[in-house]
Amino acid sequence: MGLPGEGVLQGLAVTARTMTRRADTRQYPDVPPDLPPRSRGVIALREENCTVCMLCARECPDWCIYIESHKEEVAVPGAARPRQQNALDRFAIDFSLCMYCGICIEVCPFDALFWSPEFEYAEYDLRDLLHEQGRLGEWMATVPPPPAHDPRGEPAKEEAAARRPAPGAAGGGA
Ligand code: SF4
Ligand code: SF4
Repeated sequence: MGLPGEGVLQGLAVTARTMTRRADTRQYPDVPPDLPPRSRGVIALREENCTVCMLCARECPDWCIYIESHKEEVAVPGAARPRQQNALDRFAIDFSLCMYCGICIEVCPFDALFWSPEFEYAEYDLRDLLHEQGRLGEWMATVPPPPAHDPRGEPAKEEAAARRPAPGAAGGGA
């Protein structure tokens, strides 16, 4: 058993300590948060890179990527028949369902999806969180450039392959 009023004194001591400590609260929106550049704010679409392969939509655990497309015939010089290619009609992400796992960005083989740190797109109506491809494309302007290559890191396998002499080439010009 403690002394009478001990708990109250302990509580007051905590209050006094807290009152004299500097507050960590960020005064958002007057002071914007200092987010890391690769924060998962919103997903941006580079439409011209999308081949409508559907990988992102298939892998999305929330089924919140909507893609519509049609086939187009493209003439190939020298080929007997035109080639068929997918043309994108609609690409949309429903951010009211998205859980920001990043799987769509990871699986896209054509660098068509990117994280942007922008997060100020709250809506009063949940349905407005469905971003169609025009809006997803506008987010591209807010995507930070990729980080610089670490000079101490191993070169990319593409660089190493480019430096390798072509098969059959003479070894050195001596
Ligand atoms: S981040 Fe995850 S949940 Fe959101 S659209 Fe991409 S795959 Fe789907
Ligand atoms: S994975 Fe990439 S290229 Fe394929 S449909 Fe999705 S965004 Fe387009």
